[in-house]
Amino acid sequence: MTSDNDHTPMMQQFLRIKAQHPRDLLFYRMGDFYELFYDDARRAADLLDITLTARGKSAGEPIPMCGVPYHAAEGYLARLVKAGVSVAIAEQIGDPATSKGPVDRQVVRVVTPGTLSDEALLDDRVDNLLLAVCQQHQNYGIAYLDLSTGRFRVLEVAGEEALTSELQRLDPAETLYHESIFLPRVTTRRGARSQPAWEFDSDGARRALNTQFQTHDLKGFGCDGLTLAIGAAGCLLQYVKDTQRGNLPHIRSMSHENRAHSVIMDAATRRNLEIDVNLSGGESNTLFSVMDRGVTAMGSRLLRRWLHRPLTDIAVLEARQEAIGALCENYHYETVRTALKPIGDMERILTRVALRSARPRDLTRLHSSLEALPQLRAALAQANAPRLAQLSQEAGEYPGLCELLGKAIKENPPVIIRDGGVIADGYDTELDDLRQLSSNAGDYLMEIEQRERNSTGISTLKVGYNRVHGYYIEISRAQSARAPAQYIRRQTLKNAERFITPELKEFEDKALSSKSRALSREKALYEDLLERLNEQLAGLQCTAGAVSEIDVLANLAERADSLRLCRPSFCSEQVFEVSDGRHLVVEQVLEDPFIANNTLLNSQRRMLLITGPNMGGKSTYMRQNAVIALLAHIGSYVPATVTRLAPIDRIFTRIGSSDDLASGRSTFMVEMTETANILHNATPRSLVLMDEVGRGTSTFDGLSLAWATAVELARSVQAFTLFATHYFELTSLPELCPTMANVHLDATEHQDHVVFLHNIQEGPANRSFGLQVAKLAGIPAPVLDAARDKLRELEQGELPRMAPGPRVASPAQVDLFSAPAPHPVVTALEGLDVDGLTPREALQKLYDLKSRLG
Ligand code: ADP
Repeated sequence: MTSDNDHTPMMQQFLRIKAQHPRDLLFYRMGDFYELFYDDARRAADLLDITLTARGKSAGEPIPMCGVPYHAAEGYLARLVKAGVSVAIAEQIGDPATSKGPVDRQVVRVVTPGTLSDEALLDDRVDNLLLAVCQQHQNYGIAYLDLSTGRFRVLEVAGEEALTSELQRLDPAETLYHESIFLPRVTTRRGARSQPAWEFDSDGARRALNTQFQTHDLKGFGCDGLTLAIGAAGCLLQYVKDTQRGNLPHIRSMSHENRAHSVIMDAATRRNLEIDVNLSGGESNTLFSVMDRGVTAMGSRLLRRWLHRPLTDIAVLEARQEAIGALCENYHYETVRTALKPIGDMERILTRVALRSARPRDLTRLHSSLEALPQLRAALAQANAPRLAQLSQEAGEYPGLCELLGKAIKENPPVIIRDGGVIADGYDTELDDLRQLSSNAGDYLMEIEQRERNSTGISTLKVGYNRVHGYYIEISRAQSARAPAQYIRRQTLKNAERFITPELKEFEDKALSSKSRALSREKALYEDLLERLNEQLAGLQCTAGAVSEIDVLANLAERADSLRLCRPSFCSEQVFEVSDGRHLVVEQVLEDPFIANNTLLNSQRRMLLITGPNMGGKSTYMRQNAVIALLAHIGSYVPATVTRLAPIDRIFTRIGSSDDLASGRSTFMVEMTETANILHNATPRSLVLMDEVGRGTSTFDGLSLAWATAVELARSVQAFTLFATHYFELTSLPELCPTMANVHLDATEHQDHVVFLHNIQEGPANRSFGLQVAKLAGIPAPVLDAARDKLRELEQGELPRMAPGPRVASPAQVDLFSAPAPHPVVTALEGLDVDGLTPREALQKLYDLKSRLG
């Protein structure tokens, strides 16, 4: 063991600071570098692919070390936070000239993935969220913050499924969780930190939040009763304060996100609808990629949030529709979008203003943004809709600030304020005078040179400057003997002598000091400017919010026009009716024309059983309906000529899944968990998509489960359901449940080839085309021939040969196969009494039996 005293004083200082930041990498400033030592060095060398070296020895051992240059630190930081790593930055705060031992150093901020505000570290079209979560029994309190814009929200949810769904929606860059909870896998993808229980104490949290917002209680935010979520919010706020080491004036409020105000989608549904991530994990061919044409980055981020949180408040949605309609008239959206072009990322710029880290170019962009407001409002005035008028009002105008910024900042200022040259001439007389002094130096020196030449008669006399000796008078060696007595020798060169005079010295002092005084004056003026902007922070943030929404509405209007979208209408009668519906993403990637299809669901027709060949378009058809419902609930126009729908409370999808290896759940287990979730949570106002339920298990199991699930959904749950299946036996269900109807996707055979027509027709499909599709896929001819023979055999009434061992089905389903008894399934079912049970109970029983039989 080595004791602290065995280390050099500098290493002692390093270890002391490091002990306070055990979980972060420590960037330890030394001159022009940030150095990392010991394990930090090993980790960073690996993550950043930089050379690991050693520095001297401390406590008898070489110290592993690596470093990044100070001026290039941002790029390295960006890579580290992307990898989910936090970095504590220790700067030299003492003066190296006067300090004994190592210069004083202090951590000035901690850069963590969820608390970024630097432009270089952020993706401009994606929210960057920090989230905190705690749990009590089955309830979870969630708080999240976008530090880069100041958006602070809390919510409470019940059950793990709801938590997973919210985590997937918010996709936080960093998660703080109560040490005692087990966090579902979804968040471990990125930085997650466990925090001690006391950080979530709700009384402490209330006090801290009230201090932050300068309020007495949290009633005004509608959050007063949310004890769990408030605990999470307190933990989050403390963490942000610790990492930022300063005030957070832009976080002025928080609000309650009530789940009941949004159309709820579970995690699987968000994935299946490919909202902004496709099934392969990429960003192309998603709903967002087709819908996002935001002019500003703020607008794109807001649209993404809308798509992930469709609303149930019809008044809000209709106001948006009306705005889109008004913007589409006479292509008003084009004028509005042109007016939006000069507007920068005000939301994030304002945060940097609040954190006092705004850079000169942030201010020029803020200036051009404010300058664009009158034009934007003029463009909006052309389109007649109440929501647009309201937004125009909220956007406001800032002639005073605009003029101030225009006057204060040079047109193309340098990137940072450090070396000056940012404040414009004519803004401040003191600065102008100081600048004049240093820039007039040239004229003045020429004047001295001329005067001295005249008075001494030395023709080679020159006045010059170098960094070491300052200003000097230089005389060639040949003439140097004639230098007047008041010249003081400074430096002797091979061919010349250099002198100084008291006058020159005095000038030098003035010129040099005016330069540094100009710089500090400039910095003070810059600070002052940030201060003046901060005085109007609240109003400016409101403007940024309004501009974002204007951008989204103009974006949706543009899309409505370009993609031929139409306005859906909400009605109170239970109906979901779509004429000529299309799937926006499939339509984009198809070379052939997309076949539009109709859908009709109402209280007499709650479920469509969809059959048809593989590749026939079943999934596309189901998804397009869900996407139409989703778009309608963000207030957008939709890809259909006519859409009438009753407000929807939840959208569920159970669409093909792969093995969930991470959690050791098989395809079948995932399928059943998702199905169970739907059966428990869907309501008559939900839209449910079921694709090929039962596919993950043997024929009889699968068919039985599909059967029982369909019956339960139609009879008890009564949700609007699109149920695609390859079990033709299910097509007889409408005879039992009159609220079910058969539809199929059409295909036809042409010269032994299957041709998919992709149009939806009433009634069940009459054949499966499975072999034709297999042929298309390249299955060898002998295999196809063998399959054809087998098919013939089966169609003549033989049952598929089952693997040995018991299988599960209900007597009713065995009937469907007209199975010659006794069949192994029937034997297995002998002990299973399903008479008098509800379908849900029967399903449960079947499921129990399944797990007992393995
Ligand atoms: P299924 O679910 O029946 O196997 P999919 O919905 O996956 O079929 O559709 C298969 C392919 O058929 C799609 O990738 C698309 O290329 C094409 N397709 C589906 N629906 C349509 C349509 N309405 N119009 C044109 N092409 C379509």
